[in-house]
Amino acid sequence: MTRRPPSVADLERHVEQLGSLVDTAGLITDPAQMAAYERDWMGKFQGRAFAVLRPRDTAAVSRLLSYLNTHRLAVVPQAGNTGLVGGSVPDAAGAFVLSVERMTRIREVDTVGASITMDAGVVLETAQAAAREAGLMLALDLGSKGSCRIGGNISTNAGGLKVLRYGHIRDQVLGLEVVLADGTVLDGLTTLRKNNTGYDLKQVFIGAEGTLGVVTAASLKLHPAEAGRAVAMVAVDRFEDVTRVLGAVRSTFPGRLNSVELIGADAVTLVATALDGARSPFADTHTYAVLIEVGSDDAAAAAERERLETVIGRLIEDEHVADAIIAQSEAQAEALWLLREGVPEAVGRTAPVHKYDLTFAVGDIGHFIADCDLALARVARGLRPIYFGHVADGNVHVNVMAPQGMSAEGYRALQAPIDEAVFDLVGQYRGSISAEHGIGQVKRAYLDRNRSAAEIRTMQMLKAVLDPHGILNPGRLLP
Ligand SMILES: Cc1cc2nc3c(=O)[nH]c(=O)nc-3n(C[C@H](O)[C@H](O)[C@H](O)COP(=O)(O)OP(=O)(O)OC[C@H]3O[C@@H](n4cnc5c(N)ncnc54)[C@H](O)[C@@H]3O)c2cc1C
Repeated sequence: MTRRPPSVADLERHVEQLGSLVDTAGLITDPAQMAAYERDWMGKFQGRAFAVLRPRDTAAVSRLLSYLNTHRLAVVPQAGNTGLVGGSVPDAAGAFVLSVERMTRIREVDTVGASITMDAGVVLETAQAAAREAGLMLALDLGSKGSCRIGGNISTNAGGLKVLRYGHIRDQVLGLEVVLADGTVLDGLTTLRKNNTGYDLKQVFIGAEGTLGVVTAASLKLHPAEAGRAVAMVAVDRFEDVTRVLGAVRSTFPGRLNSVELIGADAVTLVATALDGARSPFADTHTYAVLIEVGSDDAAAAAERERLETVIGRLIEDEHVADAIIAQSEAQAEALWLLREGVPEAVGRTAPVHKYDLTFAVGDIGHFIADCDLALARVARGLRPIYFGHVADGNVHVNVMAPQGMSAEGYRALQAPIDEAVFDLVGQYRGSISAEHGIGQVKRAYLDRNRSAAEIRTMQMLKAVLDPHGILNPGRLLP
């Protein structure tokens, strides 16, 4: 459906009316101030905001959506604006941006029931700290934790660094408060662990990328705090040996393995070059670095470190691991993690990029990487793929950097052939085109690579029921 932007006169009237539904700080119309809401984290997607709406509470979200729905006005929900698929910013046709950034109240931390209830605009790192202060842990951790917000995390079904042990955010959500397109408030903000009373409506909004409703608050599970951790990085030259490392640490630390992360040699070099304080712990270059983190309580941390040392020692003896370092302090652990968490920022500072977030059967990843190198070389000379990701989940991030010296504009023209090459391979390996970042604008045309026609039709029917005028995040997710 083609969207017709409102006329200038109508727009002025709508902005004035919408402004009357929020407090003074709740409306931004100054182009300079709106710029940050119109452009995504990568600087790749840029559109036009008619105005930025910043409600302070759920009632204001309801008033705004009710007005927008009555007047058939497009709206893009936004939280931390760290999304990587162009879902959080308007496109050139224009839309209102509804930011939840002022909804930052932590409503309750329940230490007995082990849950946290908070507004959708709470920054992930703030929520983590609130849980920690209560002696508990929020089992969600992303490289973007200082900027992304809970509403965005839920709407993208965020994964991240603890999926291996605790699952996606979907596994953490106990209840949601959501405002529908017509302003109806769905209050499903329960902290009950068991609630078998019909359709589990919250699941529909998790990962819906703002196309079905605006998440205004959430109750999430908390877990016993991990007071300590054992962290190591090993250097490996063949992918088969990555799977050996994975098998060995899995069987040594059942239920305690937080993360096993893969970082390709080019990614290590890039981070060490682009980010202050980052450096490879290895004297030589190896095909992959594998970062391993085991969670433990304080008392067990030293014993876990010893166990990690023993298992890695055996892998070195058997010539599956070429080199290794075991962090002896929290500072060393942080330095090793910087090599993994710093990859997106290092890539962003280096060159224009097209990003892919893929899943495979773990055993296929090495073959995929070899095939992907060849396929990209056929698309254009000088493309620079960077491979990293949550390897234990089968999740590989492929960041394809532009050839040296190519402008962002010039590189845009290569997006379609690179998409085709990468997604064709994903099909061959029966993988997924989106492990955790979602579909957004970028992968919308490729949804049918993973979802059947019947599934897409069912999603479209759901959308038509919940948002009959298509005001919520039009042009995202669904073809
Ligand atoms: C350095 C870096 C590292 C990252 N690492 C990871 C990672 O490990 N794992 C991972 O999964 N992602 C990762 N991401 C991607 C991103 O941080 C996540 O997708 C995150 O969950 C987005 O949250 P946000 O608050 O920034 O949402 P936004 O970017 O603001 O929005 C994302 C989507 O959700 C919708 N939305 C936002 N708020 C609401 C709401 N209240 N109600 C309804 N819809 C809403 C938007 O319309 C958009 O479609 C990373 C990003 C960066 C920049």
